[in-house]
Amino acid sequence: MKSEILGIQAPPKDCTDKKCPFHGDLTVKKELFKGKIVKKDVSRSATIEWFKPLFVPKYERYEVRRYRLRTHNPSCISAQVGDEVLVAKTRPLSKTKHNVIIQVSKSASSSNQLSFAQSSEGNLKRNVDAAHTAKKSNKATKNRSDVGTKTEKTGMTHERS
Ligand SMILES: [Zn+2]
Repeated sequence: MKSEILGIQAPPKDCTDKKCPFHGDLTVKKELFKGKIVKKDVSRSATIEWFKPLFVPKYERYEVRRYRLRTHNPSCISAQVGDEVLVAKTRPLSKTKHNVIIQVSKSASSSNQLSFAQSSEGNLKRNVDAAHTAKKSNKATKNRSDVGTKTEKTGMTHERS
């Protein structure tokens, strides 16, 4: 049994799951995902979901992409629908599962608990907003310079006549 994985403490419950990263013989890789559980199966499986803005160069705007991932839900962690979880990559566990839940960062029942997922979402939003404002200011300066050249040209024609 491992007491911690990637700095994350083992859950207090014990389990006999072979595919558990803490109590079984499963090694995890350092590729992590954060998401919310949208579906929980009886076969120790869960589907997590998260949203991320993606810049579309053609329209100079962001679209929000939905990402979904099938994960293994060890019986000692047993994350419920609505929980925010941290997921790590592993060897293929089944046809569709290559990831395992290693931590419940924010459970759906206790909403007053602060989570890292929320703060990271906030940062992402702030970044997107900053990018938007930067673009707007660029466009504004461009327009202003255009207006300036036009007035100069008209002034020239007046002098000639
Ligand atoms: Zn376990």
